[in-house]
Amino acid sequence: MTDKLEAKPNLELTPDYRPIEIEKEIREFWMEKEIREKLEDREKGCRDVLGYVEGPPTLNGIPHIGHARGRVMKDIRYRWKTMQGYYVPFWAGWDCQGLPVELEVEKLLGVKNKRELVERVGQERFIEECKKVIMRYHREWVEADKRLGIFINQEKAYWTYRDEYIEREWRYLKRAWEQNLLEEGHYVVAYCPGCQTSLSSAEVGYEGSYKEVEDPSVYFKFKRSGSENEFFLIWTTMPFTIITDTMLAVNPDTEYAKVKVGSEIWIMARRRVEPVMQELGINKYETVETVTGKSLEGSRYDYPLKDIVPQQVELEAKHALVHHVIGEDFVDVNTATGVVHLSPGNGEEDFWAAHKRGVPIFAPFDDEVKFTKEGGLFNGVFARDTDYPVVEELRNRNAFVEVKKIKHEYPTCWRSHDKLVWLARKEYFLRTDKINGKVLEAAEKIQYFFAEPKNRFIAFLKEGKPWCISRERIWGTPLPIWTCVNCGEKKAIGSKAELLKNALEEIPENFELHKPWVDRLTFRCSQCGGIMKREDYVLDTWHNSGASPYARFTDEEFEKFVPTDFLTEGIDQTRGWANSLLLEYVILTGKPEGPYRAFLFQGLTQDARGRKMSKSLGNVVETNKLLEKNSADLCRFYMMRKCSPIDFMNFDMQELNRRSYQVLSTLYHLSRFFLQNAEFDGFSPSRTPLSLENLELPDKWLLSRLQSAVSECTDKLGNCEFNAAVAILEDFVIETLSRLYVPMIRKELWTDDPETRRRRMDIYAVLHYGLKTITLLFNPVTPYLSEALYQKVYKKLDPSLQESVNFERWPEPDNKLVDKNVEEEFDVLFKTVSLVYAARQQAKLKRRWPLRTVVVVAPGKVTASLKKVEAVFLELSNVKTANYELETTQLKESENWISAVEGDLTVVVSGQRDEKLMGEGIMRDLARRVQALRKELGYLPTDVLDGVHIAELNVESSALVSPYLGEMAELVRARKVNLHEKTEEIPDADWHEIELDGKEIFVNIH
Ligand SMILES: [Zn+2]
Ligand SMILES: [Zn+2]
Repeated sequence: MTDKLEAKPNLELTPDYRPIEIEKEIREFWMEKEIREKLEDREKGCRDVLGYVEGPPTLNGIPHIGHARGRVMKDIRYRWKTMQGYYVPFWAGWDCQGLPVELEVEKLLGVKNKRELVERVGQERFIEECKKVIMRYHREWVEADKRLGIFINQEKAYWTYRDEYIEREWRYLKRAWEQNLLEEGHYVVAYCPGCQTSLSSAEVGYEGSYKEVEDPSVYFKFKRSGSENEFFLIWTTMPFTIITDTMLAVNPDTEYAKVKVGSEIWIMARRRVEPVMQELGINKYETVETVTGKSLEGSRYDYPLKDIVPQQVELEAKHALVHHVIGEDFVDVNTATGVVHLSPGNGEEDFWAAHKRGVPIFAPFDDEVKFTKEGGLFNGVFARDTDYPVVEELRNRNAFVEVKKIKHEYPTCWRSHDKLVWLARKEYFLRTDKINGKVLEAAEKIQYFFAEPKNRFIAFLKEGKPWCISRERIWGTPLPIWTCVNCGEKKAIGSKAELLKNALEEIPENFELHKPWVDRLTFRCSQCGGIMKREDYVLDTWHNSGASPYARFTDEEFEKFVPTDFLTEGIDQTRGWANSLLLEYVILTGKPEGPYRAFLFQGLTQDARGRKMSKSLGNVVETNKLLEKNSADLCRFYMMRKCSPIDFMNFDMQELNRRSYQVLSTLYHLSRFFLQNAEFDGFSPSRTPLSLENLELPDKWLLSRLQSAVSECTDKLGNCEFNAAVAILEDFVIETLSRLYVPMIRKELWTDDPETRRRRMDIYAVLHYGLKTITLLFNPVTPYLSEALYQKVYKKLDPSLQESVNFERWPEPDNKLVDKNVEEEFDVLFKTVSLVYAARQQAKLKRRWPLRTVVVVAPGKVTASLKKVEAVFLELSNVKTANYELETTQLKESENWISAVEGDLTVVVSGQRDEKLMGEGIMRDLARRVQALRKELGYLPTDVLDGVHIAELNVESSALVSPYLGEMAELVRARKVNLHEKTEEIPDADWHEIELDGKEIFVNIH
């Protein structure tokens, strides 16, 4: 295969650009020649090391186009930096543990909850199944990377579930434990009843976790103890929390009103009286008195459900403030009634209000968020299922006012979408609130490239809440804390060796750092000699992946590669991986520094209509399926070109093959055009290097433009403006090379006159340098096409080149080739030429019809500049002579003259065509058609035709064109051009019908 690539002719460039074939062939070449491996071996002698740690995809889903976009950005950075001479440990990594994987396996096994899982399936089998699932997805990811041309090292991938990774993650925790940053505590946490585990506050705000849900909206009232008819009016959307109600709170600095409704007096914030009464549909009411919130503090109220929740009576006995009103600034008096009921077992603020007063926390729930015996009547019922029964109980006890249903945005579990419940539980916390100053300082030093995602990230970090890292699950890193069952002493374990050394049990052969194996190991307590058992938690999966900068390396590698140079992930990772990386690194080092110097947050990818891709909408574009029928280079180019990396991108299959194909195909054809001509003339880049003395003005212009393209493209890549970098390349190929430069030199290449061979060689040198440079610049974005052109064009012409385009050095601008004067002259030139085109269009004079004269009316500076490039000007305008004037003269206003104006520049062309010019015009028309036919029939530009025959051209045209047939033969590379009246004159010829100015004529070439 690879031998063929280097020498055999069937690997020449096909007449049309076939990206899928190219990609298959180049992929095999890379594998066969171990190009990626060799690139990695270049660490020795590199310019510097730029650390990298892979943001590990979770192996619980098929890679889709959004993932592909992110991976392409990583690959672009890698290929670019490598070409600049840096070494980057671009090694894969896989996120294997945690809820997403567990839930998928639960579904596969058909179990409903964790208890059933443990009892029916068993933990050992469950863990085996989790491993099977991740391996299945792993194959898909590796396949997608391969198709996309991602040069990531799969062999050096890290796996977050492996012992060697987990024990290094433990080291973080041990260090946090020693610094008193890891604590056990009772706190209110968000808890998912479906997954049966608590979540971190970061997970609560996770992308897409807020959903519109329906809840009861209940107004209820608690009687003020000792009063005759006074009630506190309260509102809630979670009636189940009335079961765990412990206090009421008012805002002490606000005025409260006593409102007479029927025979009762209701107490609520004064400013809320009117809206609340309106909502309740009560027209007859009267404010009889206003009091301050402060004066209500200490009031006692009759908790109405004591008979069915007897534990509430015991709570009253435990603390004097239970079922009393307290003052709290957090009470919002602009919504609801301004009186809130507090359930310290079910609310964060409620919890802290109770905690600081020493009021007991009442949280009678089991792991499924069902009430325990202490919930009285509600024993065994799922909390949210008691909402309406509680309303009924209130109704029976004259504590009910009104119930409606409301739809509102409510946080749900980001994985299972169950409504979250806030619960006071015993958990383990990283006290990241204590190091928030350092975290923020570290975050400020990092480069984010764009302001918006930076602000979002910093704003999130400022919340600085403690991080609840304990999870009541199975498939995760076990929390390495053992507690003495006798005296409560705790011990943190920092490595597998430490664990095995201390364990009292024999270590089984299949032992691994997972539940249930670690749970079976116990220690002797150093304080009392009792038995120490592991705390039955696993870690938040974000802690697991956030440990990667430390856990995935050896100590030596960690020293070398961390802080990493550049990472990039989706914008949703502000709350995810970017956050956990930063927090864990500050804990590990104790310094205000991040584990990455730069972080690019990417916008997410949506479908063509701007909708989120989801299984339910059926609009997910899977990478592997897409790339079965589409080119990876086109996808890469399209995704980078379409929008800025931080924009949300609407991926549109229709767009994919349009402009992107045009650009890559143009580069391909330009390269092929160059190669065929260069080979025909025996051009060799080593024998004819680019020589400044021999260049004509168009060459100088092209090379000068190329230098700006190189430096601008490099700058844009550095700023992660991939779309702008790609736009520069696109513009250079389509505009500078294809539309402007090649038309200026094309005619010079048509001839094979030995006298002009020297000039042709110089043009080849320019094209070689220009096209090769642009091919290198394309390499990070379209690695397949660049490699193919490198092998089939440049290495073919110069076998001494590198083995792969990836081993080439990244182009640097050459100041010797920058010529701003020439660029300015050409700017004037192109502006003038486009005015000539505009004038031609007005007079319906086709561009290929030669004209006698053009008059340019412009200031002296402009004409001076134009005169310098006059030959090119006449060539592009297709005009025989040019005159220059400072002012428009009378003559030019007669009807045969047509002008076009822009600013102080006017061009005037004569609309009159003489016979000579008409004959030449027809000849050019015919030549153009013959060129197209040559191409269509597969002739190389360098092939010389034996004969061109044209039949059924009318008499008048025949007469006009006859004098130009010799010139035409030269233009179309034919020995002779013949005219025939009828096609029958050559009976067996293969005639091709073409249209010329509305009439049919016939052409034969051979
Ligand atoms: Zn859940
Ligand atoms: Zn002990």
